[in-house]
Amino acid sequence: ASPALSRIGLAGLAVMGQNLALNIAEKGFPISVYNRTTSKVDETVDRAHNEGNLPLFGQYNPRDFVLSIQRPRSVIILVKAGAPVDQTIAALSAHMEPGDAIIDGGNEWYENTERRIAEATGRGLLYLGMGVSGGEEGARHGPSLMPGGSHQAYINVQDILHKVAAQVEDGPCVTYIGEGGSGNFVKMVHNGIEYGDMQLISEAYDVLKNVGGLSNEELGEIFAEWNKGELESFLIEITADIFKVRDDLADGFLVDKLLDKTGMKGTGKWTVQQAAELSVAAPTIAASLDCRYLSGLKEEREKAEEALKQAGFKEEIGSVTSGIDKKRLIDDVRQALYASKICSYAQGMNLLRAKSVEKGWGLNLGELARIWKGGCIIRAVFLDRIKNAYQRNQSLPNLIVDPDFAKEMVQRQAAWRRVVGLAVSAGISTPGMCASLSYFDTYRRGRLPANLVQAQRDLFGAHTYERVDRPGAFHTEWTKLA
Ligand code: NAP
Repeated sequence: ASPALSRIGLAGLAVMGQNLALNIAEKGFPISVYNRTTSKVDETVDRAHNEGNLPLFGQYNPRDFVLSIQRPRSVIILVKAGAPVDQTIAALSAHMEPGDAIIDGGNEWYENTERRIAEATGRGLLYLGMGVSGGEEGARHGPSLMPGGSHQAYINVQDILHKVAAQVEDGPCVTYIGEGGSGNFVKMVHNGIEYGDMQLISEAYDVLKNVGGLSNEELGEIFAEWNKGELESFLIEITADIFKVRDDLADGFLVDKLLDKTGMKGTGKWTVQQAAELSVAAPTIAASLDCRYLSGLKEEREKAEEALKQAGFKEEIGSVTSGIDKKRLIDDVRQALYASKICSYAQGMNLLRAKSVEKGWGLNLGELARIWKGGCIIRAVFLDRIKNAYQRNQSLPNLIVDPDFAKEMVQRQAAWRRVVGLAVSAGISTPGMCASLSYFDTYRRGRLPANLVQAQRDLFGAHTYERVDRPGAFHTEWTKLA
């Protein structure tokens, strides 16, 4: 039992909650923990004991749990998003008092958080929706935290969050994001960007393996090498490790035995839906979501492979791969991956800005890039460059036109086009790289064929059009003049 009141409480002791609670206790903040299924309370208490007699105290019912925390209370909830959060809030808030704060750390839909903020406010309670990234390891040793909602609730736990978050050279990976559901929204877009990164890496793998003919050993070495340069990041690092793992049930490498069907929990879909709602182009992130859907059609894809073979489809890989300069291909793919990534981040950042304008959140994009530099799944050295780009120019319309990034894009575009062209000829789909390249080529062109679309719209719907040479709205009886 706890000798005195705890500084903070945490309810929901699955992977994330258990590890975050241990992290908080390890930083010297006495913490009370609770879980609906009480065996998890015992498990967490045992871990706290074994991991250094940490000041963590198990509680077995909502009332004792809440009353064991010093006022004004701060209670972090880490349960499944949706109804379980409402049920947990109902159970705990019955014992909470005005001025106490609820902090939901789950991957919650931001509008649920906004509804709960209104409900909590009506009862005098404070509320934060806090995105937590970094998975199990991050939660235990330093996540990236994205708290949004009540600023007072944030101030009440700021010292704790600063210590438990991942630390990078320019501070802890946490900042007050903004009002309302902004913390959840930022976490959602972080996850959308994560989808894009993972898709682009898988395409680099596909091209190197199937066009370049690289073995798993070679792939492991190349990704490890890439992780020493501009691509240095958590996802590149773990990819290098994945290629080294041998199958423990049969011969060969484990990666080759995994079913090619990607799971998902919804944050990528929400990101793409929000991009559409806000009229923000996010083709790389959308392509990565589409790829997850198509990956799910494993049986259909196998049948399609067969049906097209029957129809006379021939793999053209052989003609593309013969005589390929492996060394150059590897270097080209590295550059294509980097340039594609910049476009994907540009899309995510512009989505965040559009939402921030709509909601009046005042999001600081440079600061968001900074708190993603450590702890989270998309942590990468190149986020420092994004931070700098927004610090140079807060209202930068697109990362691509930041002077530094613009130069990098120009330097890499030849390699990028070679990789995409090669993949297209070989019949290896690279939807993320293609989407990024098309995004770049569309955004950088002063004149697009949209004039023809406008003419069509005016012809069949009298939607009118504008002219390049004089102001006003025009309509033409196209068919009469044709
Ligand atoms: P989870 O599998 O999403 O949820 C399990 C927890 O929810 C258990 O503590 C469970 O309690 C509790 N729970 C479920 N239904 C409940 C209900 N009706 N009433 C009370 N408690 C209920 O756990 P997780 O993976 O640790 O994730 C927690 C949150 O963090 C989620 O929103 C998740 O999306 C987010 N997140 C996860 C990761 C990750 O890597 N796993 C990373 C970032 C964010 P019982 O033990 O009693 O069933």
